[in-house]
Amino acid sequence: MDETRHPVARCRALLAEVTPLQTDCGRFCGAACCRSLPGEETGMLLFPGEETFYAGRPDFRLRQAAMGTLVICGGACSRSERPLACRMFPLLPVLRGADGLEVKVALDARSRAVCPLASGGLRGMREDFRAAVRQCGEILAEDGAQRAFLLALTREQDELRALRRELTPAAPSPVSSRHEGGDDLV
Ligand code: SF4
Ligand code: SF4
Repeated sequence: MDETRHPVARCRALLAEVTPLQTDCGRFCGAACCRSLPGEETGMLLFPGEETFYAGRPDFRLRQAAMGTLVICGGACSRSERPLACRMFPLLPVLRGADGLEVKVALDARSRAVCPLASGGLRGMREDFRAAVRQCGEILAEDGAQRAFLLALTREQDELRALRRELTPAAPSPVSSRHEGGDDLV
C-alpha cells in the first residue's frame, strides 16, 4: 500500500495521534473496546486494502466475513498498528443524502454496549477528533471502493439502530438525538 496516497493510509495517518479525549480514554474503561467477551472472538472490520498492513503477522489473524476482511487481534497492540476502525471508534463516518455523498460523523451504534463515551454523545469528544473522522470520511468517499464500503457500513449502522429501537421502544429516534449527542453530526 502506498503510505502517502492510499486513502486508508492517509486516514490512518490523520488519526495517528488524535484520540476521543485529551487523556487516554482506555484508562477509564480498561480498554473495553479491545476486549472480547469470554468464549467470543470478535474482530475489527478492515477498510478495503487495509489487510496489507497485517498480512503475515502472527499477532494479527485475518478472516473473511460478509462485509470484508476482519482482523483478529490479541487485545493489545501499539498505537501505530491500530486498524482505522479502532482509530475512529466510537465514531465512524457515514454517507447520507439522496445521492449518498454527504459525509456525516456518527456514533458507532455498537459503541453503546461497550464504550462509556457513548452516553455523552458526539459532543463529549474532542472537536479535532470529530473533525479528523469527518475528514477521513471525505477522503474515503472520493474513492469508489472505499465509498461502496462506507455505504455498506452506513446501511449496517441503520439496521443496528432500527433493531435497537425495536428492542427498546423508548430509545430516542436518530432525528431527535442529533442535537443531544446522538447519531449524526450536522
Ligand atoms: S471503549 Fe471507549 S472509552 Fe474505552 S478505550 Fe474504547 S473508545 Fe476509549
Ligand atoms: S487492533 Fe489494537 S486497538 Fe484494535 S481492538 Fe485490537 S488491540 Fe484494540
